[in-house]
Amino acid sequence: MTTADVVIIGAGVLGAAAASRLARDGHRVVVLERGAPGREGSGTTAGNLHVQAVHTRRPGQAVPLDSARFTPLQRAASDLWQDVEDDLDASVELRRSGGFTVAETPAQVRELHDKQAWENAAGITTEILDGDAARAALPQLGPSVAAATWCPLDGYANPLKVTPAYLGDAVRHGAEVVPFAPVTGVARDGGGWRVTAGSRQVAAPVVIDVAGPWLHRIAALAGITLDLAPVAIQMHATVRSPAGLPHLVQHIGEGLSVKQVSAGNLLVGGGWPARRLNLDGRSDAGVDSMVGNMALAVRILPFVRGLRLLRAWAGPLAATPDEMPVIGEVPGSPGFLVAGGTYAFTFAPLWAETLRRLVAGAEPPVDISDLGPERLMQDLPEKKR
Ligand SMILES: Cc1cc2nc3c(=O)[nH]c(=O)nc-3n(C[C@H](O)[C@H](O)[C@H](O)COP(=O)(O)OP(=O)(O)OC[C@H]3O[C@@H](n4cnc5c(N)ncnc54)[C@H](O)[C@@H]3O)c2cc1C
Repeated sequence: MTTADVVIIGAGVLGAAAASRLARDGHRVVVLERGAPGREGSGTTAGNLHVQAVHTRRPGQAVPLDSARFTPLQRAASDLWQDVEDDLDASVELRRSGGFTVAETPAQVRELHDKQAWENAAGITTEILDGDAARAALPQLGPSVAAATWCPLDGYANPLKVTPAYLGDAVRHGAEVVPFAPVTGVARDGGGWRVTAGSRQVAAPVVIDVAGPWLHRIAALAGITLDLAPVAIQMHATVRSPAGLPHLVQHIGEGLSVKQVSAGNLLVGGGWPARRLNLDGRSDAGVDSMVGNMALAVRILPFVRGLRLLRAWAGPLAATPDEMPVIGEVPGSPGFLVAGGTYAFTFAPLWAETLRRLVAGAEPPVDISDLGPERLMQDLPEKKR
């Protein structure tokens, strides 16, 4: 048995970022990862940094997220992303070239105005353009676009670089990262926790469960029941496009995000469901979502019609019943912290800093009082929703 100050379960972007922050604070950190780091949600993600309100729903999403509550968190995450490359001394292909959210119907145009009120309240500057002004600003937009919001802070970071950059930083500051070490046991041990992964046992006062779509399974090992419903969604990549698309393009009413990455390919997503979620293997992309997502992309950005589709893939996502993030200590389980839920890529620097402060017993950088795991605990008598 070895000892540590903090055991982190899961080496996705949240585990990696938290390991970096905690190792820098001088904690002895051990990261236990079931497979290769950064392969699951954090390796399959679209990598968008969503700063303007994401007031849309994934196709099939039951409830919308609470945009008014979400935007201050997005604002705080946006500020932290600005320093990520300098801080890690690594390129993650961070690009803050701004984004448009388009509307096609009168009702959707009204939603752009609702959205802007939340953005203004959170200090996120956006501008609403009518269809012609939007096409003047981004000539690739098609004739069905009736209006669009522009947010200069929207962006992208290459997910294949972000998690490794955080992990590299964590290791440079003394963290131990153990890949291919599936955690099979989490038990109380005196005042702390004993975590088992194969023949490895680590005792620590603090355990951070950042196992993404498996977060509830890890919690269950510790006797904690969390109401989480993982889903799998899919992405599409086109061949390299000679025509440049300098900005992120999203849709207010339908699942769409499109941007061009530095190699020239377009990445098209928007939360379309995969054919199958498989938490014990790889989730499969499906043809229906591919057709639906690409048809929408062609409608909004007609030049996409001329591009061949290169590949599609699916990835798992931890969804909470209220579509809001979950972060905090589990009541009744001192030292057992969780973090995850929607848009965890955008929130990675923010949740890492929040976890760092929670471990230090300090105030979190944003109000997380209503984002704690208690709202997901079925067996908590005075459960708050
Ligand atoms: C297709 C797709 C597109 C997305 N697009 C965006 C986007 O544009 N912007 C955005 O902000 N968010 C986006 N998201 C969401 C975001 O990417 C994810 O929420 C985020 O990457 C999750 O990070 P994580 O570290 O919480 O979980 P993950 O990256 O899923 O990592 C969890 C890790 O825990 C490990 N693990 C599981 N069980 C165990 C165990 N027993 N022992 C040890 N380790 C274990 C897993 O192997 C995995 O590596 C998208 C997600 C998907 C799937």
